[in-house]
Amino acid sequence: MDSPRPVESIDRPKTVTEKDQQAQTEMIRRFLDQADSLAVLTGAGVSAESGIPTFRDAQTGLWAKYDPMELATPEAFARDPALVSRWYDERRRRCAECEPNPGHLALARLQDELEAAGKRFTLITQNVDRLHQRAGSRDPLELHGTFWIWRCTSCGEEREERAIPLPEYPPRCRCGGARRPGVVWFGEALSESVLAAARRAAEHCELFMSLGTSSLVEPAASLGRIASSAGAKTVEINPQETPLSSRVDISVRGATGEILPLILPAQG
Ligand SMILES: [Zn+2]
Repeated sequence: MDSPRPVESIDRPKTVTEKDQQAQTEMIRRFLDQADSLAVLTGAGVSAESGIPTFRDAQTGLWAKYDPMELATPEAFARDPALVSRWYDERRRRCAECEPNPGHLALARLQDELEAAGKRFTLITQNVDRLHQRAGSRDPLELHGTFWIWRCTSCGEEREERAIPLPEYPPRCRCGGARRPGVVWFGEALSESVLAAARRAAEHCELFMSLGTSSLVEPAASLGRIASSAGAKTVEINPQETPLSSRVDISVRGATGEILPLILPAQG
């Protein structure tokens, strides 16, 4: 008959996991030290750690009856610009109540560290909330635009709209045209120049990191593949496994805000 298992053997899996994670973060640190350029892609998971509801989770209260896929389209805005503007205003309001998390702050520090060392750093984000900029990141490539910029549907003028709530739905341009949120909607193409810059960064970096993204949505999903095909070291940090997990050099299961600060040197 088996004797009861000692407590140590019950504890062991957790200890091994922690050791694995430490080995992983040490290896990422070595990659960083060896790389002359870093490209980082962030997704909804990084925002979610700040309490920003994901696209679908945003549908609470008054908005529960609407399908976000039917609000985030050019057709929806053409049909009911007031409704769509109100929805984005609600998302802006919630965003303004959130703060950048340790993952955002670590990325801003990483940019400072690398650029001070003369290395190249490119931040590519799928998030439209600008929490990266609030954390101190400079010039991220916003693949999906941002809801802090609104663009006139008549003359094309773009303007930052900081007021919450917006003064009217939809906000109006001085030319009289309706302004729409500066995000990329379903059925719309990403900005060619932003996408080209993101692809260039992925192709020419020595280290690529994919953070808090399911790696399911194209074309962002292909950036990791581009980097790895071009010979870059690749790292993924995400709570769940993704299609990219088996293709990267290191895949860490965890939250960006917990893992990334472990990679940075202690702040002196
Ligand atoms: Zn206008």
